[in-house]
Amino acid sequence: MAYTNFTLETDADGIALITWDMPEKSMNVIDISVMDDLDKIIADVVADAAIKGAVITSGKAAFSGGADLTMLDGLLKGFHKERRKDAEAAAKTLFEGSRRLTLIYRKLETCGKPFVAAINGTCMGGGTELALACHARVGVEDDSFKLGLPEVKVGLFPGAGGTQRVMRMTDAQAGLTFLMQGQTLRADKAKSMKLIDETAPAKKLVETAKKMLKAGVKPVKPWDEKGFKLPNGPVYSPAGFQFWPAANAIYRRETQDNYPGIRGLLKSVFEGLQLPMDLALQVESRYFAHVLQTPEAANMIRSLFVSMQELNKGARRPADVKPNKIKKIGVIGAGFMGAGIAYVTAKAGIDVVLIDRDQAAADKGKAHSDELMSKSVSRGQATAEDKEKLLARINATPDYDQLADCDLVIEAVFEDREVKRVVTEKAEAALKAKAIYASNTSTLPISSLAEASSRPKNFIGIHFFSPVDKMMLVEVILGKKTSDKALAMALDYIKAIKKTPIVVNDSRGFYTSRVVMTYVREGLMMLADGVPAAMIENAGKMAGMPVGPLSLGDEVALDLAWKIVSATRKDLGVNYVEGPLDNILEEMVVKRERFGRKNGKGFYDYKGKEKSLWAGIPDVVGKPKPADAFNVEELKQRLLVMQALETARIFEEKCLTDVREADVGSILGFGFAPYTGGTLSYIDMMGTHAFVELCKKFTKKWGPRFKPNKLLRELAKNNETFYGKFPPQGEAISAIEAA
Ligand code: NAD
Repeated sequence: MAYTNFTLETDADGIALITWDMPEKSMNVIDISVMDDLDKIIADVVADAAIKGAVITSGKAAFSGGADLTMLDGLLKGFHKERRKDAEAAAKTLFEGSRRLTLIYRKLETCGKPFVAAINGTCMGGGTELALACHARVGVEDDSFKLGLPEVKVGLFPGAGGTQRVMRMTDAQAGLTFLMQGQTLRADKAKSMKLIDETAPAKKLVETAKKMLKAGVKPVKPWDEKGFKLPNGPVYSPAGFQFWPAANAIYRRETQDNYPGIRGLLKSVFEGLQLPMDLALQVESRYFAHVLQTPEAANMIRSLFVSMQELNKGARRPADVKPNKIKKIGVIGAGFMGAGIAYVTAKAGIDVVLIDRDQAAADKGKAHSDELMSKSVSRGQATAEDKEKLLARINATPDYDQLADCDLVIEAVFEDREVKRVVTEKAEAALKAKAIYASNTSTLPISSLAEASSRPKNFIGIHFFSPVDKMMLVEVILGKKTSDKALAMALDYIKAIKKTPIVVNDSRGFYTSRVVMTYVREGLMMLADGVPAAMIENAGKMAGMPVGPLSLGDEVALDLAWKIVSATRKDLGVNYVEGPLDNILEEMVVKRERFGRKNGKGFYDYKGKEKSLWAGIPDVVGKPKPADAFNVEELKQRLLVMQALETARIFEEKCLTDVREADVGSILGFGFAPYTGGTLSYIDMMGTHAFVELCKKFTKKWGPRFKPNKLLRELAKNNETFYGKFPPQGEAISAIEAA
């Protein structure tokens, strides 16, 4: 019995231990060869009279990362090719190809011999679906255990029985939330939801699984027996009538119906739960094959899985610079950002010298880490020892001499050129010559800040987002003289703290801040057009943005927006075109001191965590027109088109040089409608021709800010796309690894 990816050993008690350990892969994933093996293993276990039951575990640190997405990609490519010749045959091939795993798992479930999954670590997607198809599950009881079905995060849904089994095993509300949010469960939660039966220490995991088999595991699932009842009763029942309409409402609220994957999931569950298992699985497969063909799924897989992993693995790292082992870094400025940077660095096991103007200010910055770790300890996510260890890594001090042996320094002092100049000089006096110096500035061009440095080659921008511990993106900015060594150091550091980098060339506002400001600005322009404030906010959310543009303006701070507008006006002099934006911001900030969330007054009034739109908005912008004077679809488009158009301009200016970075940066940096795959994927999805036509229409109707740039016009004329014209460089990666 030889398999490519598994071994099978039967013990004296007749229990087969099946160990999944794919050669030359760091993670077990499901591909064609794994499906072939599993098919054979089930047949072999059934055929061997000596085998009474089987345990499936993994020979790697994790159980499985799920399906190999390139396999789905291949299936789709075949489908699109065949469809031109014979649409019906192509659809049949796609349906059958995409449900092969479903049928293998069903075969395992109904083969007549009991299987127990011994889940020794991270278990995701198709790996979780394999475990659910087994007749019992035991999970390792330490932190390495993670159980999830994260497919919705890449535009799909669990299509190998996951939707049907979860909802037949656990409480409907908990199950649906788990599926719709693509949650990851720890062992205790998975057990309380009945998705696993037992937990055991790593060393006793397989032994426990074998004991379970010896004690008797029924090789028939409850839903294959007569009289099976769903945990919350039938769909058509008084309880069901309460639950399902609410579930649909929550789906609409959370997704604005923008995600075909989650829509397909909900339909599969609702329809499948009214059917016996085999038919239910067929329903799930039909929706899955349908969702697989949507552009949303293709774009989300590309940006949120393939591109993100490529960037994380160093797609933009200069190959000829040796990898850096970063032991110690300096952070100057222990304020809001510096404190967060110190925390994520210490959490990654790197020592930090945290400097501020005096000891008290430096200590205050360190206290942030204390606070975050205390929360983790109280939630059971970390131990008191972890907290002590992390705090011991942070040396809070006003003494610059402590920077002497740092490999990298990140400056996060006030956004003031002069303050930054003095700090750069002081730090360089203490640093070793090779150390890299980075600024976390959000607006000041890096090349101009580097003028204060005696080593401009070692000077770079490392721009974090707030809150630092939650936001996964870091924008790296290259100054005119920045060296490859400095870039490699920045990327090695970002990899060490497990965040995703994008690399951009220097310009005012770089990429993310510049685009995000156009979203806020378009919201203000709508106010000036007479659109009711609530409608603007709803249009933003309906378009798929995490918050409305007025809300975002309040978060960023209106006085900061006013400062940026004033600085731009000063820089451009007579070329500056005055507009309604200037009047609104001046009125809000200068005359009424409404700065946004930070002083509790902006376009919203803030009371603790509650907020409501400020009733005085019409006093500033005039009485709104009736809502039905505006087309909400057009408002949604205005908000997305403006951001995508600005991205196309930044790309033409070569501040952005990689389509992947534009897309990934837009989703992770400012939450650009994830279902589109990002700002440039949004344009490609619409088609450059249609996009340019829309820009022209908006230019006529709403103003010259919508004028399409030259690059876009050329792409449209030649019927080209961004991804077609500028294909990403570098090695493509091939497998889903715990998305
Ligand atoms: P902050 O005011 O909270 O913190 C600045 C810290 O710098 C203060 O603790 C201050 O005492 C310290 N400081 C000032 N002068 C110093 C000196 N000479 N030596 C040592 N320490 C000194 O500001 P912040 O919001 O943390 O912003 C810091 C930087 O990060 C700015 O450049 C800002 O543009 C950038 N940034 C901010 C955000 C954000 O959301 N706040 C996001 C990205 C980038």
